[in-house]
Amino acid sequence: MSGTPATVLVIEDELPIRRFLRPAVEAAGWRLIEADAGERGILEASQSRPDAIILDLGLPDIDGIDVIRRVREWSTVPIVILSARGQEQDKVAALDAGADDYIQKPFGVGELMARVRVALRHAANRAQPSTEPTIVAGDITIDLVRRRVTRQGQEVHLTPIEYKLLMVLAGHAGLVLTHRQLLKEVWGPGHAEESHYLRIFVRQLRHKLEGNPAQPRHILTEVGVGYRFVVEP
Ligand code: CA
Repeated sequence: MSGTPATVLVIEDELPIRRFLRPAVEAAGWRLIEADAGERGILEASQSRPDAIILDLGLPDIDGIDVIRRVREWSTVPIVILSARGQEQDKVAALDAGADDYIQKPFGVGELMARVRVALRHAANRAQPSTEPTIVAGDITIDLVRRRVTRQGQEVHLTPIEYKLLMVLAGHAGLVLTHRQLLKEVWGPGHAEESHYLRIFVRQLRHKLEGNPAQPRHILTEVGVGYRFVVEP
């Protein structure tokens, strides 16, 4: 990505949305490639090797979730989903199939660009893991070397599960994680359905780390989907 502009592929059948995206993507200094259907999008992704994909789930030929599955067979390119309000199950299925994040229609173009940037940064970190041994989020500091968490300079005692959950969330800062993804990462593949674990431990973490656990600034709930760790509220 260094030097050459990043290429973003948008797979979306609605022309007004593609038209709406183009100036914003180009203003960000990126190159935009368009595909108006799923099969064409997959082909375009394999030929142009974009740095990120913006994908609508409702496509005329094939299901957006199948596009994700097929692209994931050979690529780790960041994928941000466009989804309609109220389609929580579709979002979850898309994220579990390997999408990196989603944005709900109608969306602001600034918000979408921010999501794509986070996904790009995350992909770059994955390729070249950060050597930064601490994560700072507001008044929370996570020292990865000493496995020590402080809030306002005071050490916070976390149980091993709480620490692991915080690591997974903070390791994907800015991106949403589904309940299933978190359960698999923290508790293991056999526990992917036990969402009540997650609710309990998220509540504990918020009590230990958030100034006002009822209005969290860092560990955010994505209703019906999962959780998102935010460094800068
Ligand atoms: Ca559509």
